[in-house]
Amino acid sequence: MKSSKLPKTSVTTERHFITVQGMPVEVVRKNIKNLHLAVYPPDGRVRVSVPVRLTDEDVRLAVVSRLGWIRKRQAMFQSQERQSAREFVSGESHFVQGRRYRLDVIEENRPAAVRLRNNTTLELRVRPGTDRHKREEIINHWYRTLLKNQIDQLLPRWEKKLGVTVSEWGVRKMKTRWGTCNIEVRRIWVNLELAKKPPQCLEYIVVHEMVHLLERRHNDRFLALMDKYLPNWRHMRDELNREPLAHEHWVY
Ligand SMILES: [Zn+2]
Repeated sequence: MKSSKLPKTSVTTERHFITVQGMPVEVVRKNIKNLHLAVYPPDGRVRVSVPVRLTDEDVRLAVVSRLGWIRKRQAMFQSQERQSAREFVSGESHFVQGRRYRLDVIEENRPAAVRLRNNTTLELRVRPGTDRHKREEIINHWYRTLLKNQIDQLLPRWEKKLGVTVSEWGVRKMKTRWGTCNIEVRRIWVNLELAKKPPQCLEYIVVHEMVHLLERRHNDRFLALMDKYLPNWRHMRDELNREPLAHEHWVY
């Protein structure tokens, strides 16, 4: 989109993605003086803040001229990411609904159980010898139940507000999406990872997917609907894009 076509009085920030040598680059146009390029953890995504007067071609040239530096930063984040992969042992930080908890693993000869304790601790009870993979599975099952309860409460409220009906929904592990909506069958999938995010972020994704039942594309009408029903949705989107909680790359 050419910046000159934007109504400058009403739009202070505009963002979209371009691809430079196979790499997605987020372009954020706003009222600033100089181009600013940044590479973010955990996965090294690239964002360029640019003055309104600069075109996408200017951005492309700037990115290409700094490609060596970008690749170096990305390689650094990748090695950090490998180091911080979860082991599911006591003392680790884990997030639940946007809050950080300390994991406490208790081994005992009883069926597995997960619970929150004292607002500070995520307690995982497992049989002795339960390996890392199985521990993760148990916690993910708990996350799934938690998330389903949240969605169960959100959906009827938003069906009423938006005047739409969702015929089917579920929770899934997804690599690149927070949520999806199949408009034809009115089915919504929500990413399991959202159990770790603040409840407002989950609500934003649910509303976003439900608004697709009113408008298929991310066009002006879609944005107007989001602004109408969830005025601070941009804040939630930024929060989802900022938090380096998941060791995966998100496109949303
Ligand atoms: Zn969408």
